Amino acid sequence: MNSKTTTLLVIGGGPGGYVAAIRAGQLGIPTVLVESEALGGTCLNIGCIPSKALIHAADEFEKARHFGNNSPLGIRVASPQIDVRQTVRWKDGIVSRLTGGVAALLKRSGVQVIRGWARIEDGKTVDVQTASGETQRLRCEHLVLATGSTAVQLPFMPFGGSVISSTEALAPQELPRRLVVVGAGYIGLELGIAYRKLGAEVAVVEATPRVLPAYDDELTRPVLASLKRLGVVLHLACTVQGLDPGGAVRVRTAKADEFALPADRVLVAVGRQPRTEGFGLETLHLDMAGRAVRVDEQCRTSMRNVWAIGDLTGEPMLAHRAMAQGELVAEVIAGHKRRFAPTAIAAICFTDPEVVAVGLSPEEAAEAGHDCITASFPFAANGRAMTLEASEGFVRVVARRDNHLILGWQAVGRAVSELSTAFSQSIELGATLEDIAGTIHAHPTLGEAVQESALRALGQALHI
Ligand SMILES: Cc1cc2nc3c(=O)[nH]c(=O)nc-3n(C[C@H](O)[C@H](O)[C@H](O)COP(=O)(O)OP(=O)(O)OC[C@H]3O[C@@H](n4cnc5c(N)ncnc54)[C@H](O)[C@@H]3O)c2cc1C
Repeated sequence: MNSKTTTLLVIGGGPGGYVAAIRAGQLGIPTVLVESEALGGTCLNIGCIPSKALIHAADEFEKARHFGNNSPLGIRVASPQIDVRQTVRWKDGIVSRLTGGVAALLKRSGVQVIRGWARIEDGKTVDVQTASGETQRLRCEHLVLATGSTAVQLPFMPFGGSVISSTEALAPQELPRRLVVVGAGYIGLELGIAYRKLGAEVAVVEATPRVLPAYDDELTRPVLASLKRLGVVLHLACTVQGLDPGGAVRVRTAKADEFALPADRVLVAVGRQPRTEGFGLETLHLDMAGRAVRVDEQCRTSMRNVWAIGDLTGEPMLAHRAMAQGELVAEVIAGHKRRFAPTAIAAICFTDPEVVAVGLSPEEAAEAGHDCITASFPFAANGRAMTLEASEGFVRVVARRDNHLILGWQAVGRAVSELSTAFSQSIELGATLEDIAGTIHAHPTLGEAVQESALRALGQALHI
């Protein structure tokens, strides 16, 4: 058997693994990265980037349809058409540019990439089954596990045939006439809204009584209104029971009534789970936190010189968290003093309208025992929002009453994802309401709502 020795071996080339490998390479650590699929992992290939590409295409198509339907702006176009196969080719082009970029960055950092499936023999030995069928043995001093996550299946309705995961939903060869989405979390709603805008009839079944159950009522109300306006049919507080022989989805209401939802395709988006099986992880007997690998503030597992990052380590399963852990773990291995202790990690739903939450919500702050001031500023009073026909939604700030330290930001509205940078920076830098209120924000921008919400919390709002 062919064998090789390295200082650092990374299993998984997603945002966690490839960033760890690039940073380690920059720091002069001899590094090998093993990836069985395309570089970039879930995020670049079947997650963040393709979903945002599809959402953008759907938004543009919807906009064109809106123009065909007596736009108030005076723009008139003939009825638009969409060639979904071309949309998918365009999306694939973006993905391959990005994954090619990751390969180039790894090469520039001196990282050796091995294509194949890694299997752990022990904490210092990994066998890789390469695409050509050969097995290569890799020995290392440090092992970083970055194997990511997989979509959760419903045991009574496994993936296959008309039942699809987000992966298949992101590469449609044709649009289904009727799509049933199971799960009203961010992945289900982002894709459900995109399919609706592309022209499919979309119904969403959700077990809790709310959409985006991880976010509070006030924040999700504009999303609910938009879903209704778009014609997405919601079945809340309902559970899916299975598929009828004809392909319809059997649904049970909270009152135990059953009905059938006709479907050409069923997107199951009920969550993701750390990928812990199929590569010999069990041989290490690591401490676990539920289904995730337990790590400390330096991404150390319970075994010396075995590290874990990204979705494998549990929630929040987000690409920017995986990248931050990847960078950190490489630096810790290089001997730097680092701790993974972010004050806040932004969570974004790229729904229509978008939702952002950074830090504590009013409820979470109260539960944590903080006496807080909460204030919102509506986009209805923001000039830029009006010029964008986007006056729905608001920015909300949560700050301590005693010293005005900002604990949280939430926003819902068009393009509020871009405000997440300001939100995260203000929290990480320990900003107070006065800091934000006293910063000149450019006019006219949606960001003025950030300053105005801080002013309002201080009882000094100017534009409301
Ligand atoms: C539809 C969708 C939309 C999303 N949108 C967003 C978003 O907008 N923003 C956001 O922050 N996050 C989003 N996410 C989540 C994001 O994609 C993940 O949090 C992120 O990719 C996790 O990175 P990771 O490096 O931990 O794992 P992954 O990206 O899952 O990468 C793990 C890699 O390891 C490889 N691998 C696993 N086991 C082995 C093995 N034994 N041998 C070799 N290779 C192996 C896999 O092939 C994979 O490439 C989305 C996810 C989905 C599914």
